[in-house]
Amino acid sequence: MKRFIQSAFLAVSVALSAPALAASDYPTNELMGGEAFGHSVKHIGNDIYVFRWWVYRNFFIVTDEGVIATDPMNPKAASLLKEEIARITDKPIRYVLYSHNHHDHISGGVVLDDEGVEFIGHENVAKELTDHPNPTLPAPDITFSDRYSVELGGRRVDLEYYGPNHGDSLAIMRLPEEKIIFVVDIVTPRRVAFRIMPDFWPDEWVRTLKEIEATDFDYVISGHGPETEPAIEPASVVREQREYIEDLMAAVKAEMDAGTHSPDALQKKVRLPKYENWRSYDAWLPMNVERIWAFYHMGW
Ligand SMILES: [Zn+2]
Repeated sequence: MKRFIQSAFLAVSVALSAPALAASDYPTNELMGGEAFGHSVKHIGNDIYVFRWWVYRNFFIVTDEGVIATDPMNPKAASLLKEEIARITDKPIRYVLYSHNHHDHISGGVVLDDEGVEFIGHENVAKELTDHPNPTLPAPDITFSDRYSVELGGRRVDLEYYGPNHGDSLAIMRLPEEKIIFVVDIVTPRRVAFRIMPDFWPDEWVRTLKEIEATDFDYVISGHGPETEPAIEPASVVREQREYIEDLMAAVKAEMDAGTHSPDALQKKVRLPKYENWRSYDAWLPMNVERIWAFYHMGW
């Protein structure tokens, strides 16, 4: 009888865990791995790979007709990326997709450039590069203003522009079949915002995340994360990021409304205990507070 109860219990737990398994086709619990200041590559399934260099990440897809690559990062990282791709396939890189104009994510493309490689980015990436050229950073061959779809070897990646948020050229990359989005800088799971939030527009950031949340996706690959964080995350990280920015803005606003106007005093007073386990909370929260003070103080 005891054996029967045990196997009945086992059957129930299998039945209960089945939907969870179906929702975890991509390994949201598997860490990126590798050395902290090195690089690593993780195959997350379906010929999709996440490449990490230090705390920067991109993804690439290997198809029968070639490789779709993203954000080269810098010449050193791009060389490592090229080596890793060559280890996996002898097919050429056909496309390099840019997430936004910032050089820490998209320089180094010259290393990947070759006959038949096309670089793709939002039209404002091209504009920014005219003003701030970088010899290691090829201008996009193909630009778009709103949406653009790349198709290769039966795979598709959509680039989607949501207006200004972090700079004014950021594209979300969507794998519609797999329901995965690649989001750079505006979603970094379980970490407070980056330092003084350079080139981040807080209100537009929140708006953009709300618009992304309303779209159809199950997984997120983030453009940042150390080796100790998963290669791919569940969709909920977008909401969590939006809630952090909203909570940060509300806390700074409340303290300012209560009469604290010195940014130095705000940095000491504003605390968000809900996020104290997030990475860089102690070091960067005061800087985040300063940025939000500037937003309310200067109206930008
Ligand atoms: Zn950036």
